[in-house]
Amino acid sequence: MSSQDQNPLAGQGWNFDNSYTRLPESLFVRQKPVAVKKPELALLNRELAASLGLDADSLDGPEGAAVFAGNNLPAGADPIAQAYAGHQFGHFTMLGDGRAILLGEHVTARGERFDIQLKGSGQTPFSRRGDGRAALGPMLREYIISEAMHALGIPTTRSLAVATTGEPVHRETTQAGAILTRVASSHIRVGTFEYLAARNKTDDLRILAEYTMRRHYPELAEAKNPFLELLRAVMEGQARLVTSWLHVGFIHGVMNTDNMALCGESIDYGPCAFMDAYDPATVFSSIDRDGRYAYGNQPSIAQWNLTRLAETLLPLLHEREEQATVLAQETLEEFPEMFRRHWIEGMRAKLGLFTAEDEDASLARELLKLMQEDGADYTLTLRGLTEETPDGSFFRDTGFMRWRERWEARLARQSETPEESRILMRAHNPAVIPRNRRVEEALEAATLKNDLAPLKRLLDALSTPFEDRPEHARYRDPAPLDADYRTFCGT
Ligand code: AMP
Ligand code: MG
Repeated sequence: MSSQDQNPLAGQGWNFDNSYTRLPESLFVRQKPVAVKKPELALLNRELAASLGLDADSLDGPEGAAVFAGNNLPAGADPIAQAYAGHQFGHFTMLGDGRAILLGEHVTARGERFDIQLKGSGQTPFSRRGDGRAALGPMLREYIISEAMHALGIPTTRSLAVATTGEPVHRETTQAGAILTRVASSHIRVGTFEYLAARNKTDDLRILAEYTMRRHYPELAEAKNPFLELLRAVMEGQARLVTSWLHVGFIHGVMNTDNMALCGESIDYGPCAFMDAYDPATVFSSIDRDGRYAYGNQPSIAQWNLTRLAETLLPLLHEREEQATVLAQETLEEFPEMFRRHWIEGMRAKLGLFTAEDEDASLARELLKLMQEDGADYTLTLRGLTEETPDGSFFRDTGFMRWRERWEARLARQSETPEESRILMRAHNPAVIPRNRRVEEALEAATLKNDLAPLKRLLDALSTPFEDRPEHARYRDPAPLDADYRTFCGT
């Protein structure tokens, strides 16, 4: 008998090293996932499994289902629930993993470290009044959107698997229970720092800040004021992340400080959605009644959240509080400029510009203004620019014709050919995004008819978003579900 027969988990390729469990105990509670009745694998991300060095074949069956449902712990896992707090819609609350378990950190052969987290894995000491569970629809939704974001080149947590539990969960309706296996560079949130600051645990906070730096920004250790540089690096990451959202029309929907990761990845896909017609006031989330997290508010909310992070770091920035505040404020003031830099860089690529001119920002803004006035579809309009004779009423509008002359004159002032511009633009203006209608359609088939085929076809189309293939035509259709489409947290 080989050792693999004795331990079916040994052959799956896990390589855990759980550095978070070596941090102060204020940051987590040891907690195992609560076993479920009937684990079944709904989705396995074989490509991601392979890139992590896991054996997709041995995970693609009952043994994988048992791991991804939390019934069987992979060798080397040391499961914990992480403590954190957060400003939710502006209000401070103590939170923590109420329905998630961090199995541990899987280290790949290349030495990259990834959190492996089960979401929907049962109650923890942080569950408050929640059942610790998740419904199939929202977990499949996170899988679709996170994988779409990854294919779009946007930093994001990934989805390795969805397992069903064989147990019902009770929300507005009763749904099938499911668990998502999430892969993240880490789950350290702005809210993790807020948690320690609220409990006046300055020593632990310093340890967490040093740990975050070692894990994500090791080059900063030598800096004169490393913690100020940590703040700046996180700001830079968020400027990059949120501009990349704006560039594809993504609205996160719940940019609470507990949903902002210091590693700069998009995290916690709840009521998020992609905008159809360009309008900065667009909000989809049913719980965001005041539009706090509207498309166009995302940059200022990012800055607001970073300010909350900076406040927690004050004791580490300078021994005198006044000095620390000045340093933090001066650094935070750099954010709008960082954001503008990332924004215009992306917009130049979207418009086929290789060189930089001062008027580029106004050229980009003018196009957005025309799109807004016309109610033009954001994604289709930008992709349309890559065609020699774009189709559609927007492109026949006199406002657009005038803009086009200005744009063509600008293109003529660079040495690259029109075809080179089109290649650049096709790599930055996706043809396929997760349109609300197609996402809902796929989720409905999966949850109501137990049919995953539409969802798998959608995932396939979303895996090559910059390719305009005839067989993906239906995924480009911009027709919104209806004018007041709403998304739900599903918690
Ligand atoms: P989220 O909206 O998923 O970012 O979650 C916000 C907070 O609520 C986190 O602390 C979650 O762990 C917690 N939470 C959400 N849903 C549940 C649930 N069904 N049971 C327990 N805790 C939950
Ligand atoms: Mg969250």
